[in-house]
Amino acid sequence: MKEIKLEALPYAEDALAPAISAKTISFHYGKHHAGYVKTLNGLIAGTSYEGLSLEEIVRTAAERGDTAIFNNAAQTWNHTFYWNSLAPSGKGGAPSDVLLAAIESAFGSLDACKAALADAAIKRFGSGWAWLVVENGKVKVESTPNAESPITRPDVKPLLVVDVWEHAYYLDWQNLRADYVKAVVGGLLDWNAASRRFA
Ligand code: MN
Repeated sequence: MKEIKLEALPYAEDALAPAISAKTISFHYGKHHAGYVKTLNGLIAGTSYEGLSLEEIVRTAAERGDTAIFNNAAQTWNHTFYWNSLAPSGKGGAPSDVLLAAIESAFGSLDACKAALADAAIKRFGSGWAWLVVENGKVKVESTPNAESPITRPDVKPLLVVDVWEHAYYLDWQNLRADYVKAVVGGLLDWNAASRRFA
């Protein structure tokens, strides 16, 4: 059968330390993310989902209300996007001129955009995600609960995401979600990647 793959990490497990330690990544990527992929492959084996791309599985499962397949497929996609929303400190670059102009139009400044993203991440009740997205040319911040993903909406393109499930920060920060969020938003976002996605 055609299996959904666990995509490789774009950096070493210790590359985001100290904000996100190698130990956190070893569990988060090696156990949680890998677990969603394994469960998903078990769920889709022998079904009409087998052979679809991961994005197609997410969208189809959302339409059909296939909750278990949706949850595991969306978590697989969201986590790959999360790893590729982060870069080692100092390596994430800056928004391109066109992305910066869109951010300034929407938020007034890059700092205000970062503050809005951090606020959405800190205030998301329970498990979920905070996203920077572009919808019909406008850059926006939103948050989603649990496995929910903006890719179910065809007019929305995600630019960056922050995982605020407790497994993303508890080993390093315990209950201090806001400190984890500030460390990530302040120093680990991959603005080069966001700029490529926006273009
Ligand atoms: Mn996670």
